[in-house]
Amino acid sequence: MNIPAITTILKSSAEATDIKTITFRYPGAVLPGQFFMIWIPGIDEIPMSVSLITETINAITFRKIGDATDALYGLGKGDKIGVRGPYGNGFTIRGKRLLFVGGGTGIAMLAPAVEQAAKKKLKSTVIIGAKTKNELFFEDRLRRIGATVLVSTDDGSAGYKGYASDLAKEILKKGSIDAVYTCGPEPMMKTLLSSCKTIPFQASLERYMKCALGICGQCCVGAGLRICVDGPIFDGATLKKIEDFGVFQRDAAGRKILF
Ligand SMILES: Cc1cc2nc3c(=O)[nH]c(=O)nc-3n(C[C@H](O)[C@H](O)[C@H](O)COP(=O)(O)OP(=O)(O)OC[C@H]3O[C@@H](n4cnc5c(N)ncnc54)[C@H](O)[C@@H]3O)c2cc1C
Repeated sequence: MNIPAITTILKSSAEATDIKTITFRYPGAVLPGQFFMIWIPGIDEIPMSVSLITETINAITFRKIGDATDALYGLGKGDKIGVRGPYGNGFTIRGKRLLFVGGGTGIAMLAPAVEQAAKKKLKSTVIIGAKTKNELFFEDRLRRIGATVLVSTDDGSAGYKGYASDLAKEILKKGSIDAVYTCGPEPMMKTLLSSCKTIPFQASLERYMKCALGICGQCCVGAGLRICVDGPIFDGATLKKIEDFGVFQRDAAGRKILF
């Protein structure tokens, strides 16, 4: 599990502007919310959440933003990558009426959790938020399994005009949600947490990661937590103790970068 297994890319498909899904075979069970370390030989090894879970096939969905994701974006069917994992804790699905809020590529890692909820016959409302309509994806996939899918865009080019967290606040006011699950920009997740009050809340955090095994300390956040082994999913009570949450992350050299 801790040594990359070389696997062949089965499919590489465009989801939206600069966003692709890569499908591959990897043995063993994976939980929604867990992540793999993806090795692109000669370039880098980076954390990527699982975005599709079937008995035989997994996928990752990513936005190209730097060296590793650019290289990954250029790979196609038949190319090889290294995969190790899965790592991290995954979501714990509780409650009957669930709200999922995905900002940007955050919806990629929430999708398997929505699919798990659908298998358990739970009622899911999903908010997919993006800057603009060209960056939206997974709407059809989640509608097909019976989720109520709402869209928000910062520029109003599709759906609700504004942040996903603002649309979520309106839904939460109606009092018909038992639990909230989110992944996206931290300031958005922090705002969402403040709207949840007593509603159980789980959020997935991202930090610069090296070993993913809890050894190197690169992904430590306040309260002595390592994102790779203690997370990446944290509940609302824990997030309130993490002073970094929604405020800053650290680069590869450990320097603080404000959100
Ligand atoms: C547990 C975990 C799961 C992740 N899952 C996904 C996923 O499913 N899909 C996806 O697209 N990305 C995901 N990421 C983020 C992804 O790992 C980074 O975007 C990637 O490492 C960038 O590598 P790069 O070499 O392409 O970019 P770099 O050249 O390293 O960075 C380019 C830019 O992206 C920023 N950046 C780098 N790492 C991160 C990060 N972790 N979070 C936010 N910004 C970052 C840098 O500050 C820089 O501005 C995940 C990260 C973690 C920790």
